[in-house]
Amino acid sequence: MTRIVYVNGRYLPHRSAAVHVEDRGYQFADGVYEVIAVERGRLVDAGPHLTRLARSLKELSIAQPMSDAALRHVMGEVVRRNRVRRGILYLQVTRGVAPRSHAFPDGATPSLVVMARSIPPADPATAERGCDVITVPDIRWKRCDIKTVSLLPNVLAKQQAKDAGAFEALQVDAEGFVTEGSAANAWIISQAGVLVTRPADHAILDGVTRRSVMALAAEAGIEVEERPFTVAEAKAAAEAFLTGTTALVMPVVRIDGTPVGGGTPGPFSLRLLADYTARAADGGGAL
Ligand code: PLP
Repeated sequence: MTRIVYVNGRYLPHRSAAVHVEDRGYQFADGVYEVIAVERGRLVDAGPHLTRLARSLKELSIAQPMSDAALRHVMGEVVRRNRVRRGILYLQVTRGVAPRSHAFPDGATPSLVVMARSIPPADPATAERGCDVITVPDIRWKRCDIKTVSLLPNVLAKQQAKDAGAFEALQVDAEGFVTEGSAANAWIISQAGVLVTRPADHAILDGVTRRSVMALAAEAGIEVEERPFTVAEAKAAAEAFLTGTTALVMPVVRIDGTPVGGGTPGPFSLRLLADYTARAADGGGAL
């Protein structure tokens, strides 16, 4: 089956889907993106993803490429044309094509690319094993709340994790507090059973999964505290986990080689994973 990609008004075969070499996304990383899960052919939490997209665009003074209703139509078409039942949709908006010059060009039309692909269901054994993470200095800019395609520090952090045989890298700010993973938010459960995660300030991306897990924790009667935590606190925690559209709820069992909890996924993490998976399979806030 030919994969189809939406590029600036056209549904194109994947092999010929391209943007111009002077697209500002290519030259300046001047653009934003969203990754949305697809379950049973439907987008999970499209609403919050579109709300965050609109916010990212506004923060960078990039025009909305089209109305939310039109975007939902295009996203639905891309999922349908690629026959994705379970997978991922990727959407990117850049400031558009213009002769290279740093300041915003006059009258550029934003570029919009939407693609989707199938991915196999997560192997339950992966979450049951949990994952290793390493810690790295957070070398990113001061507006990590904007979901920009400027991901080089995240790429380098993830590669460091891979080279160390770990799944993720927890980024750590200058004060020694964990910010987030390279593509996931970070959480711990204290020995007192309190769920702790960093507040959604400018140092992290306010994950859509993060918000869902917070709501699920409240429903389950788990106390949630939004505050920064240190690497030492994470290593001494009862449990730790990551959340994200692709990571779902991923238990962390070792940080820089130090076992967390008993070195196996804890009951809170597994409960939240089960609740989150059930919610997503049930459509979440589906399109
Ligand atoms: N933090 C970063 C840096 C990310 O790139 C992502 C997702 O890609 C997340 C957190 C989790 O966000 P979400 O739950 O919306 O996927």
